[in-house]
Amino acid sequence: MIKRSFFALAQPTLEYDPLEPDPKTPEVIQSPDNLILLVNETLKSTKDTLFKKGDRVEKFERIRLYEDSTEYNVSPVAGTVQRIDIFADDFGNTITYLVIKKDKDQDSSSDQQSPAISPDIRSADGLLRNLPGAPPLKKLADPDLKLNTLVVTCTDDDLLCTTQQYLAKTELAHLKEGLGILKSMVSIPKICVAVPESLNIKNEFDSFQTFSISATYPEALPELVLKDHLNIIPVPGQTPEEQGVCFMSAEAVISIAKAYDQKTPVFEKLLTIIGKDGARTRIKATIGTPLRLIFNQLNIHINDMDRIVVGGPMRGSATFSIHHPLQPDMDMIMVQDRDIIPELSDSACVNCGKCVKICPAQIPVNLLVRYLAADQYEEAADGFDLESCIECGLCAYVCTARIPLFQYIRLGKHELSKLRADI
Ligand code: SF4
Ligand code: SF4
Repeated sequence: MIKRSFFALAQPTLEYDPLEPDPKTPEVIQSPDNLILLVNETLKSTKDTLFKKGDRVEKFERIRLYEDSTEYNVSPVAGTVQRIDIFADDFGNTITYLVIKKDKDQDSSSDQQSPAISPDIRSADGLLRNLPGAPPLKKLADPDLKLNTLVVTCTDDDLLCTTQQYLAKTELAHLKEGLGILKSMVSIPKICVAVPESLNIKNEFDSFQTFSISATYPEALPELVLKDHLNIIPVPGQTPEEQGVCFMSAEAVISIAKAYDQKTPVFEKLLTIIGKDGARTRIKATIGTPLRLIFNQLNIHINDMDRIVVGGPMRGSATFSIHHPLQPDMDMIMVQDRDIIPELSDSACVNCGKCVKICPAQIPVNLLVRYLAADQYEEAADGFDLESCIECGLCAYVCTARIPLFQYIRLGKHELSKLRADI
């Protein structure tokens, strides 16, 4: 496998969007009658599930499929299971969804006793994994992961998005409190905070080291933070955690603080919505809310062939369904009118070299994509640095032939991991 040194020559000119000076309070989306909760485990036709259609679910109840399941979700409401079925992601991986019909006169913030949450990482991992921001508690509680650094990010990872910046700025007290809780719960020697240079909070974190992240895209992505601020050269094919570094969003830290402060999990997720006209709205909605209800309340009309993108313009992926539920790690949704969706093509590469020039990982993208298009994933990894890609999307952004390079790369990585798992 080629293991090039990372990141030397790119001169991308795109910039992250800074938080506006006087941000508006987010619009609150009405809690729906039916919530859709995902459990990261496949339904087995040979085994009875713990929950079935018609069963009651209590607020804060852990929802697991089987007695021996390690994956769970927590219900934000009390109600009844209306449906339990298979949910397929972009790559055809299947997990499970449950539709919970909420009891009348009840919402996710109504009073009900939560199970006690002790201030230790195992207890937190047992109940708080699905809070807004998706705290990486499973990783933090894993004794086999030798973590030496935790990076809390107040940055957003795509253009147009300001979700994490807004939270870091407006919930600073909870952010600091959450940092203190984490420090007491984990034995990771170094906890740092990554702050956009445009956000004036860098001096707020007394005992924690802070990094100033430049506005130049994609400086906030984990691999570049590793290299630029922690002096760690990312190893192709290894996750940051495998290199001892865990990343956690500001929202996840704030959620932890609120859970311990209020002695109850919180389920209200902040999200940046970009409408068809490019207008940005920040909303707060209960995790599990179907996206169509958010669009309805914001008067965003979705027509056939309009595109809903989960994530931002550089790294987002299209979803096929307006019923997709709001997830703990969703920071942004973009809606694109069918008439203005940038066209992709199946044209051949014209060898203009723009993708190679802009790639921050110095990947020969024009050669790589030929192997990916031919389903030669091992060759793409061994000869053309597939695993060095940091998924910034810049190559696709500049491609003269409008080849969907980013989609090829993501699919290629997925297929490669499947191939290697089968060995
Ligand atoms: S997405 Fe494209 S430009 Fe970005 S690192 Fe990967 S190959 Fe390079
Ligand atoms: S930018 Fe597109 S057309 Fe140009 S070399 Fe790369 S893949 Fe080929």
